[in-house]
This record gives sequence, structure tokens and C-alpha cells, in this order.
Amino acid sequence: MSPQIHPLKDLSQLVSLSKRRGFVFQSSEIYGGLGSCWDYGPLGSQFKLNVKAAWWNAMTRRPDVVGLDAAILMHPQVWQASGHLDTFTDPLVDCKECKNRFREDHGTKDGQVSCPKCGSSNVTEARNFNLMFKTFMGPVENDGSVVYLRPETAQGIFVNFENVQTSARKKIPFGIAQIGKSFRNEITPGNFIFRTREFEQMEMQYFVKPEMADDFYAQWKQTRWNFLLRLGLNEGRLRFSEHGKDELAHYAKAADDVEYQFPFGWQELEGIHNRGDFDLSQHQKSSGKKLEYFDEAAKEKYVPYVIETAIGCDRLCLALLCDAYREEVTVNDNGKEDRRVVLGLKPELAPYKAACLPLSKKEPLQNVAKKIQEDLSQDWSIDYDEAGSIGKRYRRQDEVGTPFCITIDFDTESDQKVTVRHRDTMEQERVSIDQLRNYIAQKFILNW
Ligand code: ATP
Repeated sequence: MSPQIHPLKDLSQLVSLSKRRGFVFQSSEIYGGLGSCWDYGPLGSQFKLNVKAAWWNAMTRRPDVVGLDAAILMHPQVWQASGHLDTFTDPLVDCKECKNRFREDHGTKDGQVSCPKCGSSNVTEARNFNLMFKTFMGPVENDGSVVYLRPETAQGIFVNFENVQTSARKKIPFGIAQIGKSFRNEITPGNFIFRTREFEQMEMQYFVKPEMADDFYAQWKQTRWNFLLRLGLNEGRLRFSEHGKDELAHYAKAADDVEYQFPFGWQELEGIHNRGDFDLSQHQKSSGKKLEYFDEAAKEKYVPYVIETAIGCDRLCLALLCDAYREEVTVNDNGKEDRRVVLGLKPELAPYKAACLPLSKKEPLQNVAKKIQEDLSQDWSIDYDEAGSIGKRYRRQDEVGTPFCITIDFDTESDQKVTVRHRDTMEQERVSIDQLRNYIAQKFILNW
């Protein structure tokens, strides 16, 4: 009988799975935790690395995009020129009744501001609060030594435009991709790893001739949509949301968000923006260095426009986990319910690609299982588990998304074969040990 499938209902199911199985822990938990900072455990760090690799490869294996890894700390003038010192603020309102502090736009309905916690409209006027974290460089803590933790990775790309273009000998159009930490002193962080104060961004800035900006903007929207589908996100839970003229950032010519339907509602997952020539022009003005591009063929000089795609790695990890989580309930002939939790991650993203499970703790079986683990580990991350019944071990692998379980049994020694169980269908197949590597590699390509 085919099982009833229940998707994720509530974020708490995922938070508890994440802690129990080592995907995500609260930061500094033994001290009571630190507000909205999270640590990725053994499985979470591997999963996150796989997500970053998928993005990085999709970007930098194109002939027209190159990579960069810029420093988190930058010259303070960068943030003056970019507008962050003056305008990277949220309007902050205090509720006079329950003392809740919230973002004005989070409490505004039909033009009226009221407290999202207690509903009171007895609130203060909005004050602008800058979201950048400040620190000091060097031994003296004075105004002259203030530096900021970057609130976005993009500026590292803009200030290196000239370095990258000349060293990589790139002609326009071309892009620069970067993955790195960003920091924002968010007023209302929350929803697990959705909005945090320290997070990783995956951004790509594509430099184009101004007249071509609209075309490339449309192309990148499609490319990014296809990428999210390829990672396995359900198309029905994705949509574009275009910024209206009044919502556009002061520098932007056009902006679309890709939104994902999280258990707590539709929310921004990725931003795709046409930033015009704002950033390069600002840095050109502020630094006094020319950031123009000379098109040799057309004998033309211009400041390129920028098409930007910006996605939070942690936010994408959350969307992928929410999307992949399912509970399957099968009622057997005796009317008893059998439940299994499955993380239906694409194998490319799953922390373990396979698990080696000796049917008993007898040494010959253990030895074969460990040898298989060692061999396959040259290509993939492979788990080994000998504790508990085989059924329990399958379930443990299902809920962390391991696509294959390899069972080593009492016949293995004589026939040199193992049983491979498929996570999604639970089908089992007998495979020769010497064919295992090819079998798994082929299934990855063919079945997903
Ligand atoms: P929001 O409106 O949610 O605050 P934003 O429009 O300020 O986001 P961008 O500056 O466009 O976001 O950043 C690009 C991407 O970086 C976002 O789409 C999101 O995926 C991610 N991101 C931004 N802020 C955070 C955060 N505090 N925690 C986690 N990810 C974030």
C-alpha cells in the first residue's frame, strides 16, 4: 500500500530534527545561546558545503563568470560611497504598552502602525537604526579606527572590478561570483536560520553594457529559477515578486525577489536586481580611480551596469530542508501505523551519499563493511553504522537524506555481493561489491 505523505507542517519539527541529528545547533548553547546565531553540526556543515559547491559550480563553470573571495573588513570609505552609512537602516518603533521593539514595516497594516506582539497602537515615532556592526581596528578605540563587518558581499566585488577584469582578461559581459559571511544587526531576527545576524551570502554581479541590461536581467531571472528547480525545490512553492516603483532601493533600476513558501509564509529567498551603474560610479567618485570599461572593438568607454543575483546560503539551506522533509505513514494489514521521516534531498546535496550497514557485529562482516566505506569514501562522504536493528538503521539514514543503504550480510562473504536499498522507493537490489561504485554513480545521474 502506498503511504500517506505529510509535508513539513511546522518549523519546530525541523528544528528538533536538526538538533537531534547534528544539522544545526544554537550558538553557545551551554551558556543559554546567543540571539539568532547558529552553528552547523557534522551533517549540517557537510550539507551546507554541498549547497555552496552546487552554487559555486553553477556560477564559475560558466566561461563568463569568475570567482572572488574578498575580506570581510573593508576600508570605511566603502560604506560611505555605497550609501550603507547613511541609508542601511531600519525604522525602529517601540510599543509603549508591552515594550516590544519592532520594525515599522512589520507592524504596519492599512497605513496604521500597531505592535505585532500585543496589538496596541500606543507606539513611539520611528527612529532609524543602522544595521551595520561596528568594531575597531588596531589598539586604539577611537572614531578614527572604526571599521564595519560587511553587511553584504557585493561591495568586495565592486571595489575589485578593475583588478578582476584585468587579471582575468575578461571582456564585458562577464560576472564575478563570491560566497562569504555577512553581518546585519537585525532588529527582528528569527524563524531559525531564516533571518540571522551572521549569515553567508552567495552573490554574483554581472557587468554589462547599459543598453543590454534589460536583456541580461531577464536571462539571469530564468537562469536562477532553473538553478533552484535543479536543486530540487518544488516549483509550486516558488514565485517571483517584482518590486513596485515605490519599493525599489534608491539605486535600483529593477528588482525581483524569488520567494519561497516557508511554513511561516511566502518570504524572500533570493534577490535579482538591475543596479544600474550606481555602485561603480559611486566608488569611482569616492576613490578617484577610474572604473570605466573600454570596449576595444567599438572604441567606446562606459561605466558598466550591474545585474546582481543575491541569495543567502543559510536561507537556501532552510528552504531545501523544509522542502525535502516529509513524513510517510503506512497502515499495515493489522491496522498498525508505520511512520518514517524522510529528507528527500537530491543526492548531490545529501550529507552522506551512502551508509554501510553490516547485518551483524561479527568481525568478518564488519571488516567488509569498513572496507567498502573506505573505498567509497575516496569519492563521497559515506557513513558506517552497526548499532541497533537494520530497520532502525534504515530509518536513521532516511531522516538525514542518505540516498543509499548498503547492507553487508551473511552471504556477502561467499557471493561478494551486498544489498543496496533505495531511500525513496525502499526497493532493494543485490549488487556486486566491485560494481558498487559504478552502480551508485549511475543512479545519481539517472534517477535524480
Ligand atoms: P530582507 O528584506 O529579508 O531583510 P534584503 O532584501 O535586505 O532581505 P538583500 O540585501 O537583497 O536582502 O540580501 C540578499 C539575500 O541575502 C536575501 O535574499 C536573503 O536570502 C539573504 N539575507 C539577507 N539578510 C539575511 C539575514 N539577516 N539572514 C539570513 N539571510 C539573509
